Amino acid sequence: MYKKNLNAVYQHIDECIITDSFAKESPINNFWFGCSCEGDCLNQNDCFCFDQYFVAYNNDGTLKNLQSSEPLYECNDCCSCGSSCGNRIFQQGSKGVYEVFTTQNRGMGLRTVEFIKKGAFVIEYIGELLCDAEARFRSANMKPTESNYILVLREHFGEKVLKTCIDAGRYGNYARFINHSCEPNLSIVPVRFNNSIPHAALFSLHNIEAGEELTFSYAGNVPESADVEEIEIRKKCFCGSISCSEKLPFTLNAFS
Ligand SMILES: [Zn+2]
Ligand SMILES: [Zn+2]
Ligand SMILES: [Zn+2]
Repeated sequence: MYKKNLNAVYQHIDECIITDSFAKESPINNFWFGCSCEGDCLNQNDCFCFDQYFVAYNNDGTLKNLQSSEPLYECNDCCSCGSSCGNRIFQQGSKGVYEVFTTQNRGMGLRTVEFIKKGAFVIEYIGELLCDAEARFRSANMKPTESNYILVLREHFGEKVLKTCIDAGRYGNYARFINHSCEPNLSIVPVRFNNSIPHAALFSLHNIEAGEELTFSYAGNVPESADVEEIEIRKKCFCGSISCSEKLPFTLNAFS
């Protein structure tokens, strides 16, 4: 990944920090089973992981369902397949080169240096994993001029929705610079492997040209509920897309 001195007031980290209050509220369960495939699971007919879940990726490593709000399960440490298995795309990491830049009217942003194919894994949204109460506290104590970096990752399990708060305000990676758009080119997909901690994986919704700014919808892949607007004073959206709702979604409302 492209490194640049940002003089920013955050610390760069490569994986999410599990805060004590998060660990207390959501005890971490390690997965204790996996498949017994040899080589790449995508070439097997009887992969246990695919029997349990679904085949998430195409043979070229792109994601099949780009709007999934159900967690995607990759092969884990208990699986006997190799690290190059086609069901480990997220774990294999991002192949992209990105750079932080100053936008015309929305502060800093993140853009891609190279072309990105539709369905490719782009970057993980990394930060501190917060419990519900801490996320509310930090959000309520934010100055009006401060930016909110708390992403609420929503995972759908049938009717049930599990919310995980990731705050990239103090600790994070380049994903914290990605601006909101009402017509985004990235999608947030929850990915799990090894344990019960979900990862907020950003995949490309369509082909993205070199130099294009990366964006996702802060509201996630699920349409916002109507009552959201009543509660929160929202900041103006400057994404400039035709279908712009003119206000930034405020994901923390997903709590109520
Ligand atoms: Zn595998
Ligand atoms: Zn397998
Ligand atoms: Zn497996």
